[in-house]
Amino acid sequence: MKKLFSSLDRFEIQAVRSELDALSIPYLVKNEYAGGAVGELPWQDAQQELWLIDDTWYQRASAIVSSLVARMTQSSEGANNDWVCAFCAEENGAAFDHCWHCQTLRP
Ligand SMILES: [Zn+2]
Repeated sequence: MKKLFSSLDRFEIQAVRSELDALSIPYLVKNEYAGGAVGELPWQDAQQELWLIDDTWYQRASAIVSSLVARMTQSSEGANNDWVCAFCAEENGAAFDHCWHCQTLRP
């Protein structure tokens, strides 16, 4: 078994679980019911963990997790992040999904 992901944030755990469910990737959850005791336990103990039962999924599953986490981080940091076009190196405002200069899709 391999540990895939852990978080204190139930929303994140839930998001990862639904992706894994959708692809029928076998996993198990550790500390699923520990959340109620936050504040009494050291934070490590209350953190939920997702473990892959079948290691052969690891590469696929960790790619899913990192893209999910990237998306969630982006949305929680708000829309103030300018980005640089990978194609023409033009700087674009956070509100744009395509480069204003060359129309390349935001990475
Ligand atoms: Zn561009």
